[in-house]
Amino acid sequence: MKQLKERILKDGKCLEGGILKVDNFINHQMDAKLMMEMAKEIVERFKGTSIDKIVTIEASGIAPAIMVAYLLDVPVVFAKKKVPSTMEGILKSEVFSFTKNRTYEICLCDSYLQKGERCLFVDDFLANGNAALGMIDLASQAGTEIVGMAFLIEKGFQAGSKMLREKGIRIESLAIIESLDNCEIKLKD
Ligand code: 5GP
Repeated sequence: MKQLKERILKDGKCLEGGILKVDNFINHQMDAKLMMEMAKEIVERFKGTSIDKIVTIEASGIAPAIMVAYLLDVPVVFAKKKVPSTMEGILKSEVFSFTKNRTYEICLCDSYLQKGERCLFVDDFLANGNAALGMIDLASQAGTEIVGMAFLIEKGFQAGSKMLREKGIRIESLAIIESLDNCEIKLKD
């Protein structure tokens, strides 16, 4: 998506260890207009696919997910990273965080993921695909189908995309980073 690619080149910053910082339009300060344009693009790419619900993981997936859900007029549910004491019927999974270099738990209340529902997973980044795997695990515990996954930014030089595609999952990424070598952002055309 041209607009997103231009913004990444303008405002994205490379950190040591292959991390792209997009804090001033996606991950901290958010550009709502661009977020809506990205959501429209995701909806366009999944046109013709029946979707009952949007699923994501807190916190950074929520903003794009809620806009996609709004456009499709379906509910959005996010996996939480802390198990609330009041939650009943908990589905849990573990995710290894690439940016934090540790494993954390994600959970969802089972009443928000129903058997037979068709869900689209929306998240900010796809790196090694661990967050996506956590959501696939929660969905399979619930008997829910993941009909596709949409990411704002895919880091094409990491293993996630290939691994998920090999599982037969449809992946759509709005911008693909080819490399962050030498702290230089190279985007796929
Ligand atoms: P994965 O689970 O695919 O390995 O990593 C995806 C998650 O890690 C995303 O939800 C995102 O929050 C975080 N992440 C991975 N790589 C980056 C990155 O380069 N920059 C930022 N800001 N977040 C990242």
